[in-house]
Amino acid sequence: MVLNRPRQPLQLRDVPKLKPGRGQLLVRVRTCAVCRTDLHVVDGELPDPKLPLILGHQIVGRVEEIGEEMWEGPGCPDSRGTKAAPTFAIGDRVGIPWLGWTDGDCAYCRSGRENLCDNARFTGYTIDGGYADFTVADARYCFHLPDRYDDVEVAPLLCAGLIGYRSYRKTGDARRLGIYGFGNAAHLIAQIALYERRELFVFTRPGDTETQQAAKKLGAVWAGGSDEMPSEKLDAAIIFASVGALVPAALRALAKGGVVVCGGIHMTDIPSFPYADLWEERVITSVANLTRRDGDEFFEIAPRVPVRTRTETFPLDQANTALDRFRAGKLSATAVLTFSK
Ligand SMILES: [Zn+2]
Ligand SMILES: [Zn+2]
Repeated sequence: MVLNRPRQPLQLRDVPKLKPGRGQLLVRVRTCAVCRTDLHVVDGELPDPKLPLILGHQIVGRVEEIGEEMWEGPGCPDSRGTKAAPTFAIGDRVGIPWLGWTDGDCAYCRSGRENLCDNARFTGYTIDGGYADFTVADARYCFHLPDRYDDVEVAPLLCAGLIGYRSYRKTGDARRLGIYGFGNAAHLIAQIALYERRELFVFTRPGDTETQQAAKKLGAVWAGGSDEMPSEKLDAAIIFASVGALVPAALRALAKGGVVVCGGIHMTDIPSFPYADLWEERVITSVANLTRRDGDEFFEIAPRVPVRTRTETFPLDQANTALDRFRAGKLSATAVLTFSK
């Protein structure tokens, strides 16, 4: 399914099968979850995508072919920080995330912040992704996936889970944690927060009592509209909705020294607000991309919780339907594309 130009439907067509290059895996795709970022790319809200482009950065597949000359694990220019690069054999299950390649050499990579790499390449954005029967990926950025999940269940963990986890870690040891926008990423991260005994406060669209009930059922101590103040001041808040007006709203709900973490890649403009709302060492930050270390940590903790995903499957050729329903807010779970072969 190919995006020729933003704001056009994807087109089903045959493309040449790729050969894996140095250090790359050729992967037969089994599932690929749909992320809000895919929508932002299709809708032209993110600058300079590769065109034509194959979207998709939550890819689960099997290794079909391995490129010659794999990189060595430890000692290669950008080995994982905590661990050696993973090794793969033909037939292994593999997870391919958003971060597809970094230079290993810029000031950010050298200081353990490869998520900010000046020359990073991103799966399904600046390199082709998983809305296709086959894809190639640099093995060093791929993950082995926990056995307890099947190919459909595990797909949403590769972005909603992983980048959500990075947002969650930015809240430090906050005891009272607010989450604005209770979509897919929030639902996954809430499970980890509860597992780690945080008090969870969930904010939805005003009047969305159904989602508020679901959040309470999951274990939130408070759930209400984003126009309401929580019952207690928060130590941290994560904003998963792409609505800039939530930033000053979340700031007002914080205790002194609290942090607001913006978890999305795109947000509408943030309205101005009085300095008094930021004073007393409150912080606003964002999360960009992921490091491989985030992924290693997340895939270690997720099966222990265990984090459960909610999915709704679509065959690959129904990708436009999945995107349209996502845009219209008509999905009740994460859309996952499936492949017949
Ligand atoms: Zn770099
Ligand atoms: Zn994503």
